Amino acid sequence: MLIHKHSTNNDFICEKPQTKLAQYTYLYVAPTDRCGFGLFTARTVSVNDIVLRVEDPHYLSRATPRAHLTQLGFGHADIFQVGHDLFLPPYGGLDDFTNHSCDPNCGLRVNHAGFDMLALRDIAAGEELTYDYSTHQQHPLEDMACQCGSPNCRGVVRSFSTLPEPLRQRYLGLGVVAGFITESATRSRPSR
Ligand SMILES: [Zn+2]
Repeated sequence: MLIHKHSTNNDFICEKPQTKLAQYTYLYVAPTDRCGFGLFTARTVSVNDIVLRVEDPHYLSRATPRAHLTQLGFGHADIFQVGHDLFLPPYGGLDDFTNHSCDPNCGLRVNHAGFDMLALRDIAAGEELTYDYSTHQQHPLEDMACQCGSPNCRGVVRSFSTLPEPLRQRYLGLGVVAGFITESATRSRPSR
């Protein structure tokens, strides 16, 4: 999936995702000012709207260790983390083009059979749709420079655990943090 991530290697995309994208005709891919192509909306979106839902019972079946995808030539901007050492290559869907922002207007809720991309605020027609990659990133080798241009840009996109506590709590409250991150945080809590 996701994985913006500015994917140029389509050779790995050998299956058509079992998605129902026809209902998302208001989404389009276009060049951005700072970061290659991005995903945009042609109509206004209200906060909490699902802007994109991917339903695919085999969604996670292509998850593989990071080293394997590196061998295949994928960079950290191409792959999407779904487990402690499990990553998905580009998915072949619109969401492959979703860029990161340190001030995102969307968040991702991933499940075993796809994901929802929901609006974190009202979004105007013509705006680029973004999410904070750190909400789905927990790996020492996945840091990447950020050029999102937002006033609160962190400069480097790092693991979720490195975010300031208030920001972590905000994302957790919104329910847009990867399950493998929230589950390990729960497990590591000291028991009494
Ligand atoms: Zn940034």
